[in-house]
Amino acid sequence: MQQITLLGATGSIGKSTLDVLARHPQRYQVYALTANKQWQRLFDQCRQFQPRYAVLLDAAAAEQLQEQLQQAGLATEVLQGEAALEQVARAPEVDMVMAAIVGAAGLKPSLAAAQAGKRVLLANKEALVMSGGIFMHAVQDHGATLLPIDSEHNAIFQAMPSGGNGDLPSMGVRRILLTASGGPFRSADLASLAHVTPEQACAHPNWVMGRKISVDSATMMNKGLEVIEAHWLFNASADQIQVVIHPQSVIHSMVEYVDGSVLAQLGNPDMRTPIAYALAYPERIESGVSALDLFQVARLDFEAPDVQRFPCIALAYAALRAGGNAPAVLNAANEVAVAAFLERQLPYTAIAGVIEQTLARVTNTAVDTLEQVLAADALARQVAQEQITGKFATC
Ligand code: NAD
Ligand code: MG
Repeated sequence: MQQITLLGATGSIGKSTLDVLARHPQRYQVYALTANKQWQRLFDQCRQFQPRYAVLLDAAAAEQLQEQLQQAGLATEVLQGEAALEQVARAPEVDMVMAAIVGAAGLKPSLAAAQAGKRVLLANKEALVMSGGIFMHAVQDHGATLLPIDSEHNAIFQAMPSGGNGDLPSMGVRRILLTASGGPFRSADLASLAHVTPEQACAHPNWVMGRKISVDSATMMNKGLEVIEAHWLFNASADQIQVVIHPQSVIHSMVEYVDGSVLAQLGNPDMRTPIAYALAYPERIESGVSALDLFQVARLDFEAPDVQRFPCIALAYAALRAGGNAPAVLNAANEVAVAAFLERQLPYTAIAGVIEQTLARVTNTAVDTLEQVLAADALARQVAQEQITGKFATC
């Protein structure tokens, strides 16, 4: 029986993970479930999965959950705060950690799981974008296993020789072809983008996801973050990663080999496939995802990304090439800008500008420690917020 800690249990990935776990009660036992402050949903999940621990970041929510669990006569123990997230990620009883907290908040507990040598199922791409070198060293130094949950990276992992994180040319790999749906505004009139609402940005054509990643998919910063994620996971340079727009989201990504072969992984767009793959790797288990009906799909289209429409892709490539703190600054500025857009304090079309300006204003320095990463993150948040408050206070 494998014990699993699920960081970010109440989110989109968290719920999909629990759906897969519920199909295999003989294989997996939930050790801990965590959330920010959604205690009611966490309570329902505790009732169903009876974990040893439930962790909430928010103190008031933790109290509510504690009371509710006691009333229901459930033995789950409630912990609270950032340190508790790390505690359940590195607990000796735990075999696997699903890292599915959104944004920079997931970095420390995800890293704690790597440092404790766990099998880390990484959905929290922001952690790798911010601290790729540090994270990959932690995985190596502590004998952890890192399995990508992001559907594209999971697909690449599947199409690489033996999981493949070695040197690409020596494995006969020429390029990674990272597919992208293009989001809800792929073919929208450019002038109309100035009036985009959070509701429109979050209405993804193929995937149902949390709000932050939905906006990232609309701006295609999600693909930019994924380029950086692919760089770290597969030891690929910026030039070895090509973004390919594929509106049907049936091919989840591809690996191009020197002999002309291109290996792709296909499936219905449902995160339970990569989740089940990573949970059971190297075995295959039922995920609840229906079989792909190619006759219904009928056709697969591809196009090059339009950098004018999606400036965030170019910003991410530039940050990857610049190295140092640039990816952490890019990520932090994006988180601040997206949050402001979701709060209706920033127009959709200003998101990229805030990120670009923040990258220009924060000096690029090397980041060798977690403290340096967190300092770059904090400074970039401040610089990004100043621009938003200064320019768009009344929008
Ligand atoms: P979500 O917003 O639906 O859920 C986020 C989870 O994180 C929730 O459980 C929330 O309680 C928790 N959380 C939020 N802020 C927190 C904080 N400060 N401290 C502790 N916990 C906090 O997000 P999601 O769509 O499930 O995405 C999670 C991660 O997975 C993101 O990094 C995203 O990029 C990645 N991802 C998601 C999908 C998808 O289909 N949803 C696909 C690929 C990758
Ligand atoms: Mg993805």
